[in-house]
Amino acid sequence: MLPQDLHIHTTWSHGDSAVVPEQTIELIAALGHARIVGISDHFEYVVEHFVDYETAVRNAGLRLGIEVDGHPWVDAALAVDCDYRIFHCYDRAADYRALERLLASAAPVIVAHPNALDTDLRRVPPGCLVEINNRYVWRCDWRGFYGPHVGRFEFVIGSDAHQPNWLGQSVARHVAAELGVRERLLFSSGGP
Ligand SMILES: [Zn+2]
Ligand SMILES: [Zn+2]
Repeated sequence: MLPQDLHIHTTWSHGDSAVVPEQTIELIAALGHARIVGISDHFEYVVEHFVDYETAVRNAGLRLGIEVDGHPWVDAALAVDCDYRIFHCYDRAADYRALERLLASAAPVIVAHPNALDTDLRRVPPGCLVEINNRYVWRCDWRGFYGPHVGRFEFVIGSDAHQPNWLGQSVARHVAAELGVRERLLFSSGGP
């Protein structure tokens, strides 16, 4: 089981074509792939129905997050109650300023997949948490991108799952457990 996964999309992100219809809050909750699980749907898709979204996440016993797409959404994002906010910080002065505003609220602020948005981590306030994102991190020179900032920030690791199989083997293991199948381990250790 993973210690934590706070970056997960569901069918509430209805405008995101990467999300499949099976990616429901209920399925994520049932998979139990991490000890601490949060749902972070794109704020622009849930803002109109925020109370329903909040209720669905809370009823599933999960942490309530949102993913905020840059400074134009910050006022609205600050107007709703949530456990944490994930922020798309594009390389724009207004987005770095928006991070300061988000930090002034009590909820933790996570800078989403900075390598995918050309976020300049030197301009990100140190109170922010920086995400290492399973969907995007392998597509960059991550040692060069994150390495110089390791001492300056605290980090969170997120799957950014849009489909159940983006949660590692969790779905297969969930199905096997539901079927009562016991996996045969072929070796006693990973190496000779
Ligand atoms: Zn994102
Ligand atoms: Zn995301």
